[in-house]
Amino acid sequence: MTSDNFHDLPKSPTMGQMMNQPMLISSIIEHADRHFGNREIVSRRVEGDIHRYTYRDCHKRARQMANALGKLGVAMGDRVATLAWNGYRHLELYYAISGSGAVLHTINPRLHAEQIAYIADHAEDTYVFFDLTFLNLVETLAGHCTSVKGYIAMTDRARMPAETSIPNLMCYEDLIESNSDRYAWPVFDENSASTLCYTSGTTGHPKGVLYSHRSTVLHAYASSLPDALNVSGREVLMPVVPMFHVNAWGFPYSAPLSGAKLVLPGSMLDGHSLYELIEQENVTASAGVPTVWLGLLNHVERNSLGFTSFRRIVIGGSACPPAMMKSFREKYEVQLLHTWGMTEMSPLGTVCTLQSHHALLPQSEQDAILEKQGHAIYGVDMKIVDDEGTELAWDGVACGHLLVRGPWVVASYFKGEAGAALQDGWFPTGDVATIDPEGYMQITDRSKDVIKSGGEWIGSIEIENVAMAHPAVHQAACIGVFHPKWDERPLLVVVRKADARVTRDELIQSYTGKVAKWWTPDDVVFVDALPVGATGKILKNEIRKQLRHHKLPSV
Ligand code: ADP
Repeated sequence: MTSDNFHDLPKSPTMGQMMNQPMLISSIIEHADRHFGNREIVSRRVEGDIHRYTYRDCHKRARQMANALGKLGVAMGDRVATLAWNGYRHLELYYAISGSGAVLHTINPRLHAEQIAYIADHAEDTYVFFDLTFLNLVETLAGHCTSVKGYIAMTDRARMPAETSIPNLMCYEDLIESNSDRYAWPVFDENSASTLCYTSGTTGHPKGVLYSHRSTVLHAYASSLPDALNVSGREVLMPVVPMFHVNAWGFPYSAPLSGAKLVLPGSMLDGHSLYELIEQENVTASAGVPTVWLGLLNHVERNSLGFTSFRRIVIGGSACPPAMMKSFREKYEVQLLHTWGMTEMSPLGTVCTLQSHHALLPQSEQDAILEKQGHAIYGVDMKIVDDEGTELAWDGVACGHLLVRGPWVVASYFKGEAGAALQDGWFPTGDVATIDPEGYMQITDRSKDVIKSGGEWIGSIEIENVAMAHPAVHQAACIGVFHPKWDERPLLVVVRKADARVTRDELIQSYTGKVAKWWTPDDVVFVDALPVGATGKILKNEIRKQLRHHKLPSV
């Protein structure tokens, strides 16, 4: 089918009589070309320079690449993998691969090589596109991925590696140049698979989440709403969250949908590089995990800098420390928007914004609301249940397992891999949360991180937030360690700020009056750094492993 024959008429008189036009990802880039053709996409390339072009250019090159994929024999439903940073070529592939009916499989290059080989094999990837940064990685992988027919280096002829062991290596720009931009995006069922992302698999093998065109387009609409991520043509958006991690939270779709200028930061995600790009490109809003923003905050604080246009940070992936929220707002007039979601949810589930009746509340009460993970965005339904599956009250106190459902929530894992099975049509998120009477949800922990002390739960996030509010603390993680009487007691693991001094006793003292007495950590361990995983989050299971023999003074 071509894009002209989607006007299937409804057949039954009981059906609505509107056009039955499938929601396809290709329509987003077509729309951006037609309506915001000259809006810029700016990328920091792995080659080191800054590249600029427009949505119109992106659409043209995506069509050229779609023709190239056709010639390579990529068919509807075939998986085509990328190992790439946030950049314009990766964006072109988002549209060329999914738009032509194949499945874009974004692989997280920060995973171990064996895990990547497992994922590529499991997905039966047919081609792998990669940024030059990952040349060595691809050389290691090439022999192990039996389904892969060829590899494409995302660069131009001049920068192609001279000698390499990679079989059937092609050049991205050659593929673009040798193909026409005459291409009509095919029309097919909106429930067709569009994109495949694997969860990071901190325990067991990674599992694939297979999104559809319909789920992706719906997520792009819903996530753009003013009380969601507020994506508009007035924004200059810089997604720092990688395009290899849950589709960069949907920004590669929601930005062109509204005509927002896109700034893609490539591989340089340190505070200095991000700051430079924010100021040069007049970035208004960005998105990423807390560790990234900690880096930016440190950079601006240490160098006494300020922001010209930067006003908003979408933060998620891990709980946002309230102290960081406060610093950004009070010192830099940057609002942190707390969001929650997961790979299995495309990823957006909740966003925390205030409502009109909160405007008169004192700042401290507004802050307390904004620290929560927020309201479900329309399309996502949520509830909390106890161990027996009985629904718990929305009273802000009852704490239970968080379950969700909605049109962009996973129904089952790719190839039927076993995972969290749906419970009466609800997906168990593995998170533990409260929901207040106004519907604001607050994550207290991941169920596997919850500290079980004397049969009661201690939420590690709240313990960490108190530590993070201490001026000498750079990062903190709280884990449960063995205690003969209480089963587990909280142990705080802390990275101090450079040149800052604070003792164990001072930190423990700082909990007085801030949490229930029995939630106070029994001990503090100072370390130089905390282990961070492939998605930029602190690896608690790794810390637990390292400190499993830690003897608490109370024992
Ligand atoms: P991974 O399992 O690879 O970390 P995701 O990126 O899908 O995969 O992570 C989802 C999980 O991250 C959630 O289930 C939750 O535990 C955590 N998370 C996401 N956002 C937040 C948040 N704002 N606060 C606390 N935890 C969060």
